[in-house]
Amino acid sequence: MQISTYVIGGVVIILLLATVFWKFGKTKASREIGQDNRRLVTSLKDEKAISDIILNAIDDGVVLIDNQQIIRHFNQGAVDIVGWTNNEAIGLDWRSVFRFVDNKSQNIDDQEVPFTKASREKQTYRDSSVNLVSKSNKTIATSFSVSPLMDANQNITGLVGVFRDVSKERAEESQRAEFISTASHEMRTPVAAIEGYLSLALNEKVATIDTRARSYLEKAHSSTQHLGQLFQDLLTSAKAEDGRLTSHPQVVEIGDFLEKLASDLRFTAEKKRLSMQFMFGSDIHTVTSQETNSKVVRPLYYVSVDPDRLREVVTNLFDNACKYTDKGGVTIGLTGDDKVVQISVKDTGAGIPPEDIGHLFQKFYRVDNSATRTIGGTGLGLFISRKIIELYEGRIWAESTVGVGSTFYINLPRMSTQKAEQMMSISPDSIAPTITPTAQR
Ligand code: ADP
Repeated sequence: MQISTYVIGGVVIILLLATVFWKFGKTKASREIGQDNRRLVTSLKDEKAISDIILNAIDDGVVLIDNQQIIRHFNQGAVDIVGWTNNEAIGLDWRSVFRFVDNKSQNIDDQEVPFTKASREKQTYRDSSVNLVSKSNKTIATSFSVSPLMDANQNITGLVGVFRDVSKERAEESQRAEFISTASHEMRTPVAAIEGYLSLALNEKVATIDTRARSYLEKAHSSTQHLGQLFQDLLTSAKAEDGRLTSHPQVVEIGDFLEKLASDLRFTAEKKRLSMQFMFGSDIHTVTSQETNSKVVRPLYYVSVDPDRLREVVTNLFDNACKYTDKGGVTIGLTGDDKVVQISVKDTGAGIPPEDIGHLFQKFYRVDNSATRTIGGTGLGLFISRKIIELYEGRIWAESTVGVGSTFYINLPRMSTQKAEQMMSISPDSIAPTITPTAQR
């Protein structure tokens, strides 16, 4: 939602408060005050008229709901979007007028809609991906901002909702995503063919080339790999945005999963002469080329995820840790409690400034420093990682100290051993298969 909406929201709250005070003043005035105060009443009436004019001139829908959930104000913008007239809506419970649905047109639970969320969290709630059903049963893409009104004791006395029809913007966004997705898909295919032929040319068993040609082809091969990864990332991020990311969740034991994954990841660390460690709970275990299996007795951490997708995320975090670290090492951690399994990837790199931390998981965001200027990247990896982790109702975040290093955390809902075993006995396929290095993002 644009800043203008928030400004409008602020103005609207002030105007509505003026209206409420005016109403209160009106009753009191008519009962208790006499002739002398008529001028005051007239001026308040003028203010109310001005408030109404302004509220009705705003394109955005504006609704005032009292603490009994009853609609007290419904401006012309709201009438235009929702299709209920002002007279029909005022005096009704907001749940009779506002129906929210998800992308599959299923009704959203009352507890999860903007009015309830703002009321529960006692702070302004904003959501630009809300679907509202109009009186004529048409689904409208809207952007919502709901602010609670509170008395001196922090009790909620009402809610002000400001909302806007964003159908056009959403349709344009989806066209853009469709274009990126089609273009990336079409370009990825020839790039994969070029990469394949370059690999063949570089294969001594298949082709004979001189040293100079080899060095040129190696460079071409590496650039083609970058390009292929970029198209793949663009495609995955477009899919993640419009909910088309495929996922086949299975029961996965994360300790076992991470140990197997480590043997693939080890090479990335070795290439940069970085050490690599495992940390199960507080037990540190060094991963060497001879041994990757931990002998530490540890709890079994079961989760329901697509192992290929989780592999993609951990690999991305690990690759980043190696990419942005010059000396020291990378530690993969696993811990948890009854409810949560926590994976961490910690490095001893340059760290990330605090002002960038909150933006890392946004699309195309790259920290602007000497490392990112010299090290290639797209700023899509962490965006894709967040989208994948959110598929499994998990959370991903980063903590970092400049000059010391960064740690990226993933929290996933833990499945009880009993439930995991039950699921695996029903469907043996629900056990995660051994991960193959060919599972690329
Ligand atoms: P990319 O690495 O392709 O630029 P990502 O989305 O994976 O994109 O990461 C976004 C940005 O976050 C990177 O450009 C980098 O600035 C920063 N970053 C990610 N991981 C680390 C890390 N381990 N240490 C320092 N900076 C990091």
